[in-house]
This record gives sequence, structure tokens and C-alpha cells, in this order.
Amino acid sequence: MSTLIAAPFFNHWPFGFQLKMATLPSIHYMKSLLNLIILQNTLPPNFSLAIKSYFNYDATMNMSQRLLITNCRLFDAPQDKRTTSVLIENGVIAQIGQIESGTTCDNTLDAQGRIIAPGFIDVHIQGAGGADILDATPEALEAISRTCARFGVTGFLATTVFKPDQENRHLALAAEYTNRDLGGANLLGIHLEGPFISLEKKGMILPECICLPSEQILDEILNITDGHLSMMTISTELPESLGIIRSLVESGVIASFGHSNATYEQTLEGFDAGISHVTHLFNATPSIHHRSPGPLVAIFQAEHITAQVITDGVHIHPAVLKFAYEKLGPDRTIPITDGMQAIGLGDGMFIYNGIEYESKAGAARYKDGTLIGTALGLSQILERFITFTDCPLDVAIRMVTKIPAGLLGLEGKKGTIAVGKDADLILLDENLSVHTTIVAGKIVFQE
Ligand SMILES: [Zn+2]
Repeated sequence: MSTLIAAPFFNHWPFGFQLKMATLPSIHYMKSLLNLIILQNTLPPNFSLAIKSYFNYDATMNMSQRLLITNCRLFDAPQDKRTTSVLIENGVIAQIGQIESGTTCDNTLDAQGRIIAPGFIDVHIQGAGGADILDATPEALEAISRTCARFGVTGFLATTVFKPDQENRHLALAAEYTNRDLGGANLLGIHLEGPFISLEKKGMILPECICLPSEQILDEILNITDGHLSMMTISTELPESLGIIRSLVESGVIASFGHSNATYEQTLEGFDAGISHVTHLFNATPSIHHRSPGPLVAIFQAEHITAQVITDGVHIHPAVLKFAYEKLGPDRTIPITDGMQAIGLGDGMFIYNGIEYESKAGAARYKDGTLIGTALGLSQILERFITFTDCPLDVAIRMVTKIPAGLLGLEGKKGTIAVGKDADLILLDENLSVHTTIVAGKIVFQE
């Protein structure tokens, strides 16, 4: 039976599948049917995963499953507000407030007065838990996903590099696993740093991962990432870079300014071409000079531009961080980890892209002292941000939830706690210690 049902889907997936769906009475019926076929395990490898990915659906989970979280405090509620409850149904927030006593649930979770917040979104992370996107294995992606969840992250952009004239299997794999169940945080898409960036401002990126802007290489990248390239960091002073920025925007990819030696004027040209975001503000860009303002002044002045900020207090001095936050405001600031595989592990020596680096007290550096990222989880990064800026907790949380969700065009599904939104939620203490992480209604981490 399963072969007969599955056979027509293979040639024109997902188009054939949509046609088939239209002939069936309901999605619930279809999912029961899929459950049956998947559990019979008679499909070719990867087909059941393709089905799960297409529906954002896990066959091992009963779709009528309900999880009730009681005794929690909404992160943005006034301090004196009493605790509330959140009901999750089919991976989506179904109700907020006092739930009728007769409501049947498969699971109840007593939050014991903890804060409930939307899951954090990290738009810049290379690795975690001993794994790197460049490892190009499903196990590495799972390790990153699960480690992210420990620090309150429910969605992340797999941030990595493209290697011109080399194999880029890591990109095909990250694309394949986008929006699939990896056991922890969801991989929401790919963020490429380069390859069209400045050699002078390469930071931790190896020269072989950098080249001059080329529409042909961009096509190659768009092909291999198969519709899952969410963001590209690009330098606006390079020849033909403005055309690439326009192509990125046309393809629905966020063009992010970074790793650049651009002048003030060249930065503004990039904004006009479609740059809407900045990669790790201050890092790998020229500083401000009173006769040569450089990109930073242009960025601060551009009110429509959001900026990633590494808020560990090492990549940017705490005083500069506070200044930048006061200038940008909470709607334009997005704290990131710029995380490496050392996240979640102790101090020690690690390898990034074949080069050894040291992780010490949360900072990762090549042997020549070049800062290459952090070994801090996003909840730890946010805790430092609050310490350095005195930003209120609810405002800080919004900068790693609602603001990045909006940047990624996911504000309709993620980044806030509201009925109908994805149940990507976390329970945490006032000190930002993460107690529970829930992704699509499933508890993926609990302390
Ligand atoms: Zn970078």
C-alpha cells in the first residue's frame, strides 16, 4: 500500500505531493496516513524526513498532543502580575491565561513561578557543543542544535563560509536540515560570511574563502543552498558588489554589511542597493575618524538598519557597547554569540576550518591573538549585555526574539508569545539561567 501511495510523489516533489493533498479529505487524514507509512518503514531513505520537513511534522509525535505550562510569568508582564498558564496544542500556542479546569492535557509542566519567554534566535553561530557547521555531518548539526537549546535558543542561522572552487558539502547539508527536527533548536537557514568580503578585514575567515563579487559564484551559492540562504555578509567597496546586493535582495536573502573596508560613502551606496543589516557591528570594519567617518557613522545614522552585536565585553569594550546600544536603541540591536564549537565546553584548544584556536573564559582566539568568536551561549551573552548596559530584562529578551524574528521575516510565527505562534518557548530565572527549552511544543532541554 505504501509503495502505491508514495510512488507518484518522487518525480515532481513537492508539486506532485500538493496535487495529491488536494484530493484528500483533510490534513489530519493525510497525517494519519503518513504516520502509518512512515512507521511501516517501507519508504526509501530520506523520504520520511522529506515528508516531516514539508509539513514541519514529526511522525513520532501525536498531533493532538497538548502541553500545559502552569505557574509561569510572562517575560513582559508587570512585576506584580500574577502567574499565568500557557496551553500548547499541536506545536502551537493555543491559549494564554487561566485555562479551564476541565481541559485535558497529555503533559503538564509546573514552571514554579519562572519567567516564560519566546525562544531566543541566534542569527550568527558557527558551531557549538564540539561541532562546527563545516564538519558537514548530521551529527554535528544535532550537537549544535542541542547545545543551542541549553542556552535558550530555539532557532539559529547556520553561519559559515563558502569555499570557491572547493567542495561545499556543508552548505548542501545545512540546507537539507533546515527546519527539520535536530533534537534541539531549529536550523532556520544559512548565513554566509563572504565570499565577497574584504581581504584586509577578513578577521577569522581564511583567504581561500574570499573572492571578488561574481554573479556566477552567487548563482552557484544559491543553487547549493537550495532556497535556504537567509543572509549573506558582503563588503560594499568591492567592484560589482552593489549588483550582488541587488541580486540577493531579489532572491529574498538579507544582504548584511560586514568584513568591510568601505568608506562612509561606499557604505551608504550599499544601503541604497539593499543592505538592511550589519554583521558584528564594530568588528572587522574601520573605526571612526573625525575626518573619515567610515561605515560606523553611516550605520548609526541609518534608522532602518539593524545590527548584530557581540556583547561579551571582549569583542567590544563595555563602554563602547553601552554607547552603541544607546545610539541604536532596542529595535536595531541584535545580540549574537558569533559562537564557535567551544560553546558548552570548558577552556581549551580547538580547531576552526583547519586552524587551531584557544577558547578561554568565553573568548576564542587564533594563536596570533585574532579574536574569532565566542564560546558563550546566547543566554550568557544576554546576561553580559544587561550587566554592561543596564537594559531591562524584557527589553533585552525582545532583542534576541522579536527583533531577529522580524529581520528573518518570521514575525508571523516566531519571536513573541501569542495564540497561533509556534510554541518555541523557554522558562528561565531572573538571572537568565535557562531551565526549560521547548521547540514546536516539544521539551528539548530541561535542567
Ligand atoms: Zn565574522
